[in-house]
Amino acid sequence: AALYRIDRWGAPYFAVNASGNISVRPYGTATMAHQEIDLMKIVKKVSDPKHSGGLGLQLPLIVRLPDVLKNRLESLQSAFEFAVGAQGYKAHYQGVYPVKCNQDRFVVEDIVRFGSPFRFGLEAGSKPELLLAMSCLCKGNPESLLVCNGFKDAEYISLALVARKLALNTVIVLEQEEELDLVIDLSRKLCVRPVIGMRAKLRTKHSGHFGSTSGEKGKFGLTTTQILRVVKKLDQVDMLDCLQLLHFHIGSQIPSTALLADGVGEAAQIYCELVRLGADMQVIDIGGGLGIDYDGSKSTESDISVGYSLEEYASSVVQAIQSVCDRRSVKHPVICSESGRAIVSHHSVLIFEAVSAGTYESPALSQFDFQYFVDGLPDEARADYGNLSAAALKGEYETCLLYADQLKQRCVDQFKEGSLGMEHLAAVDGLCDMVSKAIGTADPVRTYHVNLSVFTSIPDFWGIGQLFPIVPIHRHDQKPSMRGILSDLTCDSDGKIDKFIGGEASLPLHELEGNGRYYMGMFLGGAYEEALGGLHNLFGGPSVVRVSQSDGPHSFAVTRAVPGPSCGDVLRVMQHEPELMFETLKHRAEERDGGRSSMASNAALASSLARSFHNMPYLASAAASSCSLT
Ligand code: PLP
Repeated sequence: AALYRIDRWGAPYFAVNASGNISVRPYGTATMAHQEIDLMKIVKKVSDPKHSGGLGLQLPLIVRLPDVLKNRLESLQSAFEFAVGAQGYKAHYQGVYPVKCNQDRFVVEDIVRFGSPFRFGLEAGSKPELLLAMSCLCKGNPESLLVCNGFKDAEYISLALVARKLALNTVIVLEQEEELDLVIDLSRKLCVRPVIGMRAKLRTKHSGHFGSTSGEKGKFGLTTTQILRVVKKLDQVDMLDCLQLLHFHIGSQIPSTALLADGVGEAAQIYCELVRLGADMQVIDIGGGLGIDYDGSKSTESDISVGYSLEEYASSVVQAIQSVCDRRSVKHPVICSESGRAIVSHHSVLIFEAVSAGTYESPALSQFDFQYFVDGLPDEARADYGNLSAAALKGEYETCLLYADQLKQRCVDQFKEGSLGMEHLAAVDGLCDMVSKAIGTADPVRTYHVNLSVFTSIPDFWGIGQLFPIVPIHRHDQKPSMRGILSDLTCDSDGKIDKFIGGEASLPLHELEGNGRYYMGMFLGGAYEEALGGLHNLFGGPSVVRVSQSDGPHSFAVTRAVPGPSCGDVLRVMQHEPELMFETLKHRAEERDGGRSSMASNAALASSLARSFHNMPYLASAAASSCSLT
């Protein structure tokens, strides 16, 4: 476990159990009431076709853990409640979840349900997100906020106004000044008194990767001049009382509480100015940015780590707002945050299989092969070989390598000219591998082929180089004897993972065993990855199961299981019509051999074609094969 830093990035939810497997502690602790869930048991139950009551789902697999989601939400809430109580702050905290982090229906529904007792709401940034947020919040607490961010057209604004008519606690946050006229006009037309917020462009700048949208030149929000114009216009149309919320977002993964307090303090000043200018201000919405420590280093210098806890984050926010408001004698506002990453990252684990590992293929050259090999070499190459052997006898390793390279190059040239056969070229490759291995310069890193698409399932690694903890989910009771990088199924050289947390260029891994399977997990990827993933090579999303803690004899229950998209499903996304394609191919099968083939053989071909459309695009070998899981 120490090898993979699980205790650092995984605590308190993930740990290695007595069987050497990674287990989940959904509530952060293992007690009699809250048992741990062994990830290998989940894999066995859902993917092993031989398992009694098994679901036969194909990997890759996302395991969703709603209990972890609940714990994250409650931890965030109690961190703020504690800070509010401890500091004597005179208003409450009321967060929203930005659905863009993971729009999965069951994730959003769970958040609304778990957060309902403390008025936890939703944030939307587009029209479909607003539609889903509206329908989910119908089952939530009526006081929960529905924050409408993002660039808006008339249709978006009308929809947000309709949400208000439906008694959802909706706030239209102006992202651009031009949106104001639409809000004024449409609210009159629809006879709704809107609640308006404004996104301010702060001067405070977050310098990490995720901060490129912050600062004066950032992409979003209103400048000081624009804010003043909005206030004036609202006043002119007698709607200044509608302006009730101030929003800002410094960027995701805010590295330190110092930067956080700086930004929140600046925003609190703007908030107080808006109060002074006559707006009916109620809420300060501090956006997202609460970070995740992906490598467990607690560093304030890295994009994948943060140097604070939930409690320290909440305490800094409350303190920064309180001190500005107290100095300006302004009533404390309700504090809203839009934490996405911090809520959903831990709740899902992506499980996939390593299906093979590249090995050194030095052929064991027999005496006979050897003689055949040397005899067949052209004169100069034979001389290189003689020099290589002499250097090896004298223990002159550098010279050995030199002659091996020279020999290889000469043979490649000869092969290109057509004067050397493939067997000779293979033998030379083998000899050179043997030399580098013998003198210890061979690359010790193997390539493990994984049944996964990096583009679909870990797009941020490909797109922005973000690192996630990736580790085997079993065999932690055995010392890994290899180091490896991971290469995915796509026909794309970028489809590989060769950087790992801790600055490592390879991962300690176990040797693949003859009939065993090697399961790996990508952790902390519950935010953004599913929404950003693409369809490169038409590999669709993984299968998904929802696994809850249960009180019965087993420590968990699978409460939902959805196979990943089939080949037909992913083809449909690209406008192909699988049903028509199938008919065309079936027809072709019937017409073959002048239509003389038997009905039975035609039916067999048709059902094999149908299966191909029906199955997932990933390698089927693992799930279909009959190896037993341990
Ligand atoms: N709110 C806004 C406006 C955002 O742009 C983002 C993401 O960048 C978030 C909230 C969520 O941020 P995070 O995932 O860092 O909590």
